[in-house]
Amino acid sequence: MNSKYEVIIGLEVHVQLKTRTKLFCACPAEFGGQPNTNICPICSGLPGVLPTMNQHAVDLAIKAGLALNCQISEKSSFARKHYFYPDLPKGYQITQYKEPLAINGFVEIDGLKISIRRIHLEEDSGKSIHSPTESLIDFNRCGVPLIEIVTEPEIRSPDQAVKYLQTLRQIMRYLDVSDCEMEKAHFRCEPNISLRPIGQKQFGVRTELKNLNSLNSVHQALEFEINRQSKILDTGGVIVQETLFWDEQNRVAGTMRGKEESEDYRYFPEPDLPVLVLNRENIDNIKNTLPLLPWQRKKILKEKYNLSENIVNIILETKEFADYFVETIKLCDDAKLVANWLVTEVKAVLNDKSISINEFNIIPKELANLLNLLRAQKITGTVAKEIFTDMVLTNKTATEIVNEKGLFLSNDDSLLIKSIDEVLTENADIVAKYKSGKTSVISFLIGAVLQKTHGKLTPQKIKDKILEKL
Ligand code: ADP
Ligand code: MG
Ligand code: ZN
Repeated sequence: MNSKYEVIIGLEVHVQLKTRTKLFCACPAEFGGQPNTNICPICSGLPGVLPTMNQHAVDLAIKAGLALNCQISEKSSFARKHYFYPDLPKGYQITQYKEPLAINGFVEIDGLKISIRRIHLEEDSGKSIHSPTESLIDFNRCGVPLIEIVTEPEIRSPDQAVKYLQTLRQIMRYLDVSDCEMEKAHFRCEPNISLRPIGQKQFGVRTELKNLNSLNSVHQALEFEINRQSKILDTGGVIVQETLFWDEQNRVAGTMRGKEESEDYRYFPEPDLPVLVLNRENIDNIKNTLPLLPWQRKKILKEKYNLSENIVNIILETKEFADYFVETIKLCDDAKLVANWLVTEVKAVLNDKSISINEFNIIPKELANLLNLLRAQKITGTVAKEIFTDMVLTNKTATEIVNEKGLFLSNDDSLLIKSIDEVLTENADIVAKYKSGKTSVISFLIGAVLQKTHGKLTPQKIKDKILEKL
C-alpha cells in the first residue's frame, strides 16, 4: 500500500441478540428452521397488527452497552426506515434513529481506545436466496432482534479493524448477548473506508463494503479497497461515495448501489411503539450482574498466577475455556502446570476434533486428578500424556487407567537394576562407544530402559543408575 495516505475506517456491526423470540412478536428467533415457518402476521408485515417490545432483547442491548462503556439513554425511541426490497415485507424496518439506546462508549484494543458512537436496537430483514433461474425469499429472519454497534472513524488499518472485531465478538460472547457465529449471520460487519493524504485534516470520500462473511473477508476487502482508492487518488481521480459488494470468490469489490443519504430512507417516528423508558434501577441491576470481562480476567490471571501474556490470551479466548481453567485449578494447585496442559494437550484435542471445551469429554475434576498424580510423582510426564490420550479415547478416569495398566512409578530398586543390567548386556556395542568417550549415546540406553519398564521409572533415576554402573 501507498504510504502517502492515511487509512480511515469506521465499522458498523450487527449483532444478533440471543433471545428465544423475535423483537416484536412471539415467533422463534432461531436459525435454520424450514423456510417461512417461523412467521406470523406481525413479522411478515400484514396490516392491522401491532408490535410488542421484547424485554429480554432490551436487557441484552443494555448489557452490551454497559460492557462497551456506553451511556445508556433513559429514553430512546424507534423509527421506521423505508426501503423497498422483497425481503422486507412491511416496506420499512423498525430501528432506532435519532435517539439510540446507548451512546459514547469505547472498546480497548492493544491499549488503544476505539470510540463507539452509538448502539441501537433494530429488527432484521428476511433473506433472499438467488439462483440463476429463480429467486426465493425466506421470511424467518424478519423481526429477529439485532443491535447495531457503530464506531467513530478511528480505525487506521485492516489489522486494527480485525482486532476490534475479534475483541467485540469476544465481549459479546462473554456477556452471552450473542453466539456471534458469522456463518449464521449472528455477527455482520460493514466497514466504511476512506483515505486522506498524510497531514490532511479533512476526511476523504468513503465507500461502504457489504457482504463480508468472515474476518478474513473483512481484511481482504479492506486491503482491496485501500489499493483501489489509492490508485484512483494517485492519478488525480475522485472517489465516488458508494456501497460496494465484496465478491468472495474473485476477491474484488463491485458497485452494489450508490450511497443512500438518510433522506432516501424517509425516516419517521414509529407510531406503534411508545418511547422506550428505562428505569435506573433496572440498568443498575444489569450492571451489577455483568460477568467479569476478558480484560478484567486477564489482569487477575497475570497477577495472581504469574502466567505469560500469550498463555493468558489463549485461556481467555472463550469464557468457557477460562471457566474450565478456573475449575481445574480449584482442584490442582499448580496454575502453571494446568495452564500449560490446557494450551497444549487439551487445545490439541479440541482442534483435532473441531470441538469446543463444552464438548470435551474430560471434566475439570478428572484433568486435575491426572495432573495431581503427576505432581505427586506417582507417574512420569510421558505416562501422563499417554493416560490423557486414553482418557480422551475411552472416557475412563486417570486412576482407572493407571490401575489397569499398572503405570504407577515404581520404587522398586530391583526392577531398576534388573532392567539396566539387561539393557547394558543387550547393547554391549553402545556401552563400548560410551566408554571410548562418545557419552551422548547414554540417551539411547536410557530410552531402552524406559521402554522395558514402560513408564514405571523416571528418566532421571535411570540415568543416575546407569552412570553409577558405567
Ligand atoms: P451512515 O449514515 O451512512 O451510516 P455515518 O455517518 O453514520 O453514516 O457513519 C457510518 C460509519 O462510517 C461510522 O462507523 C463512521 O465512523 C464511518 N465513517 C464516517 N465517515 C467516514 C470516512 N470519511 N471514512 C471512513 N469511515 C467513515
Ligand atoms: Mg451506514
Ligand atoms: Zn412473528
